[in-house]
Amino acid sequence: SLGAMQDWPLRVMRLVDHAEREHPDQEIVSAWADGSMSRTNWREVAHQGRQMAQALERLGMKPGDRIATLAMNHSRHLTAWYGACGMGGVLHTINPRLFDDQLDYIANHAEDRVLLYDRLFQPIVDRMKPRWRTIEHYICFDTLEGESGFAEWIAPEDGDYSWVEGDERDPCGLCYTSGTTGNPKGVLYEHRSTVLHTLMSVTPDVFDLSRRAVVLPIVPMFHANAWGIPWSVPATGAKLVLSADYRPERMCKLMREESVTHSAGVPTVWLTMIEHVERTGEDLGTLQRVTIGGSAAPRAMIDWFRKRGIDIGHAWGMTETSPIGTCCSKPTNWNDLSSDEQLDMIAKQGRAPFGVELRVVDDEGRELPRDGISSGRLQCRGPWIVKRYFKEDQDALDADGWFDTGDVAVMHTDGTMQITDRAKDVIKSGGEWISSIELENAAVGCPGVSEAAAIGIRHPKWDERPLLLVVRGDGSRVGEEDIRAHLKQHVPSWWQPDAIEFVDELPHSATGKLSKKTLRDQYRDYRFA
Ligand code: ADP
Repeated sequence: SLGAMQDWPLRVMRLVDHAEREHPDQEIVSAWADGSMSRTNWREVAHQGRQMAQALERLGMKPGDRIATLAMNHSRHLTAWYGACGMGGVLHTINPRLFDDQLDYIANHAEDRVLLYDRLFQPIVDRMKPRWRTIEHYICFDTLEGESGFAEWIAPEDGDYSWVEGDERDPCGLCYTSGTTGNPKGVLYEHRSTVLHTLMSVTPDVFDLSRRAVVLPIVPMFHANAWGIPWSVPATGAKLVLSADYRPERMCKLMREESVTHSAGVPTVWLTMIEHVERTGEDLGTLQRVTIGGSAAPRAMIDWFRKRGIDIGHAWGMTETSPIGTCCSKPTNWNDLSSDEQLDMIAKQGRAPFGVELRVVDDEGRELPRDGISSGRLQCRGPWIVKRYFKEDQDALDADGWFDTGDVAVMHTDGTMQITDRAKDVIKSGGEWISSIELENAAVGCPGVSEAAAIGIRHPKWDERPLLLVVRGDGSRVGEEDIRAHLKQHVPSWWQPDAIEFVDELPHSATGKLSKKTLRDQYRDYRFA
């Protein structure tokens, strides 16, 4: 028979209830796209969330209906998350940087019924309206002259509302992967999976959040739910700073003015920030801790922050893993390690937190040893890892319940996982694999190189050989020989690219990552001289 403790379904609205009860006055700051600032708190956000839930019901929305957003980070977007989930809806955060065909596909596939959007994305809405067949109501977060927006929409409601209760396994969120191959796939998060992920995410090895923290996520709320930070913050009572504008000068100013202690973002964001700081000499105020993920954090980037006394958490994950899969966790003897050894450890993708199981398998699906050498396909399982993509009729798992991540990794003896590549990005040279990520990171470590991409080019003898595309930093005149000399110290000699080309910029995907697929298409007919 059962134990004798209380039944308390793990529903996300309990996070908001907690914040409203225990941290009602804690600030939520918004830096808006037009340059203005505003402040609210959990009391107001929870109240407005209830008003919004009432407004949604008035429109005829029912539990399970998909409520979409097309918006940057700000307090109204945050409120909308709670309003949507609070009425039992499924929050679908759409990435505005997707191509029209993807936008078309995902909104129709999700069967979104309501769309809340930023004025900034009016052109997308105007363009897509005829193609979005299921959206019945469009609500603009901003109030336009003579028109009513989000504020006017919820204003008539009194907020006398109780969140819809239900099973903890009910869905509460939907995110589509950007679909680097084929159609985007929907990952349907549950209340329970989100709450469990939240509890893990606030721990010291992950986001390291507490009531004292001031958090500025520089990852959009449409990118894997800003890595879950808008759920982590109400759980801890930290101060939240949201910005709809990612320009580095704005970020630096915000960091100083709001005394930001914790931030998170993909390497591209930090690259821009570092260049800005190097150019202007601005300082980053009280920043203590930066979480980098979404792509491999280059060693040189980690080093840059550490030299300024800022601690780096390097995390790996994907939309399918809610998204935290691993994060750097420091061993007991951390302080005895040399700075280089520490850097080596942070440059890897980290270890599994409680709730995630990892393994690396060969092509036959046999588990490989954690020996720091054997490289294979990375698989994972756990309560916040996808089981089945939205509307698919089969689980996305193997017979033992493992999800194949599409990444290639090595497990080290201490349990640290190191991504060596995405399965489709590895460069296969003479039956051996060259890690495009390692090659890129080595290149970025060369002074004067701002960004680099390595792709495999067909080769008559070796099958594939690396081509390195390099973007020079501002005013840099770094040349091919400098890069080769630098690479020589960091990668095996047979990894030396067959060609190095200098380009003005590199293509990025909708989530700000290097778009290798675009590059591969662009250089499909490239031949080495
Ligand atoms: P997509 O970019 O296709 O939309 P996600 O945003 O879910 O998908 O990205 C997941 C992928 O990003 C992972 O499978 C992995 O290849 C890559 N990734 C995420 N974090 C890291 C990291 N710290 N180091 C290397 N690769 C990473």
